[in-house]
Amino acid sequence: MTTPTDTDPLVHRMRPFGTTIFAEMSALAARTGAVNLGQGFPDTDGPAEMLAAAAEALHSGHNQYPPGPGIPALRQAVAEHQRRFWGLDYDPNGEVLVTAGATEAIAAAILALCEPGDEVICFEPYYDSYAASIALAGAVRRPVTLHPTAAGRYAFDPAALRAAFGPRTRLVLLNSPHNPTGKVFTRDELTLIAELCQEHDVYAVTDEVYEHLVFTDAATAHVPLATLPGMWERTLRISSAGKTFSCTGWKIGWASGPAALVSAVTRVKQFLTFVNGAPLQPAVAVALALPDDYYNGFRAGLQARRDQLSAGLTAAGFDVLNPEGTYFVTADITRLGGRDGVEFCRSLPERCGVVAVPTQVFYDDVTAGQRLVRFAFCKRPEVLDDAVARLSTMRPVG
Ligand SMILES: *Cc1c(COP(=O)(O)O)cnc(C)c1O
Repeated sequence: MTTPTDTDPLVHRMRPFGTTIFAEMSALAARTGAVNLGQGFPDTDGPAEMLAAAAEALHSGHNQYPPGPGIPALRQAVAEHQRRFWGLDYDPNGEVLVTAGATEAIAAAILALCEPGDEVICFEPYYDSYAASIALAGAVRRPVTLHPTAAGRYAFDPAALRAAFGPRTRLVLLNSPHNPTGKVFTRDELTLIAELCQEHDVYAVTDEVYEHLVFTDAATAHVPLATLPGMWERTLRISSAGKTFSCTGWKIGWASGPAALVSAVTRVKQFLTFVNGAPLQPAVAVALALPDDYYNGFRAGLQARRDQLSAGLTAAGFDVLNPEGTYFVTADITRLGGRDGVEFCRSLPERCGVVAVPTQVFYDDVTAGQRLVRFAFCKRPEVLDDAVARLSTMRPVG
């Protein structure tokens, strides 16, 4: 018998991933009584029709394992929703898979498609599960940096994207609308991504959980990559109910794509969670079919709250990068005397009673995000008012 010589039982490839910054900042908020604008979850419930449908399902026998690919009514609703909003056609039988949130769909996709050593191109700052899922698969991430522009948006260098492609590139993992920057990729940017995917014969996996959160003053509408010429065939399109219907704790997501891709992902997914959320699946089917009024009202509500928080941040001395979509606003701390976002966020509760997260933890190139912090505005207006009042008491340091 051998005894482990290492004190840490964790496999090496997962060691770079400590506790998430969200856990640290949420603990800090709890300890100091600060307003927590760190983690991106809403503080209100989703549509009443959806909640009623879940309660009804819970009391009418929908409590055992649902079918592996998801219940037919939800797969049907997912397909209809994509036809209705994006003109995309998926067969609910074979081209749609229900997952335990978008997070499981992303992990299963990477595990299903990447051999160890294969490369995954993603834009940094990236959503925190991406790096971990890539590492779990033994794959290698190839980040392309989004830089703030003089116009207050984020953009990437096309040459840097081109250079990221190579013989080991297996897929591009694209998040648009993008967390944490609030960037919505333009049709021109997507066209370049699509051309490179085809030139190098790689797959695209798209994380579109904010598909319904593009604000009316955005420079571009949301364009699913799968709608571009030649892309439906090589794209796995992922979304979820959590953000659109304010039910982040339900973890009902889905992946859509050509049958071969969906089948590959299903074969991995079945051994991760197999299935989840039996009584929640029919409720999400109800939510997806809600009239346009719901979607428009949802977006307008978040846009008003974005404006509320952005104005407060600007007044407090932050340089705000105006988000075109999502739940988040990022801001530069330089004018407030900030040199490092991690330090800044650790001191913010003491300085004014608000919690934010440093976005540098979502970059490989730490210097690129060193002076940027992220605030979530998916909170009730009175909570944001309180946060804005607290921010107004902050004085520059040093
Ligand atoms: C919240 C979020 C997810 C996770 O979605 P779940 O459905 O809760 O798993 C994935 N990607 C991005 C960019 C997110 O912001």
